[in-house]
Amino acid sequence: MRKRIDVKNNVLLHKEHYVTSDYKTRNTNRKNHNGIDMVGKNSSLDDIIAIDNGKVIKAKCHELMGYYVEIQHQNNYISRYQHLKKDSFKVKVGDNINKGDIVGSMGNTGNSFGAHLHFAILNDKRVAVDPLPYLLGYTNFENDYFHKFVRNIQRVFNAKVDGYPGKETLSKTITISSTTNRRHKAVKYIQEYLKEIGYPSVGNVDGVAGPKFTKAVKQFQKDHNCMVDGVITKGNKTWKKLLRLL
Ligand SMILES: [Zn+2]
Repeated sequence: MRKRIDVKNNVLLHKEHYVTSDYKTRNTNRKNHNGIDMVGKNSSLDDIIAIDNGKVIKAKCHELMGYYVEIQHQNNYISRYQHLKKDSFKVKVGDNINKGDIVGSMGNTGNSFGAHLHFAILNDKRVAVDPLPYLLGYTNFENDYFHKFVRNIQRVFNAKVDGYPGKETLSKTITISSTTNRRHKAVKYIQEYLKEIGYPSVGNVDGVAGPKFTKAVKQFQKDHNCMVDGVITKGNKTWKKLLRLL
């Protein structure tokens, strides 16, 4: 398998990213793969560039990861670049680097069969997360709206506050609409989040689910294949879509 992905945030200098192995978790596949393997066009080698601004926290050799570099970004998220060519580092620990700066060259060091980049993103708990939304630009390090939203929602519904939604978070949510829980504390966070993800029609972040709120929710539902009724419930999938559980 080798498919080209149209990335917004490049990690290969020549901006041609061909995926040879996807990110997989044990939930979705028996074989875990905590990053995305990439090569350049026609399996060509390339230089590796930083996905975003940050500080280099590791630049060393590991038995399995080979020569690898870790860059810490906003919110303490980390991007990691593995199997780099021996002695190709262009950065050192402590360097503050910019998006697009060359980190090193693609290589075949460590547990690697053929030169490629294994690109991983670790969250603030050093747990690997899917790097694809970061490459495609759906998520970024500076404006981590999503995790902030989740933490706020978990807080108002008395769920465990860890920024990572699951069944527990979903089970504690309640129906929110212009007629049900119109002034619930969650309304403000939903307004704030809708605004941040591109629904300015939600209007002022005033904590009241009025007509503009309903309109923005309907647009969100339309865009996310939910029933379009302006009501946020567990049953109509809207909470699941807001919490990215679907
Ligand atoms: Zn890999």
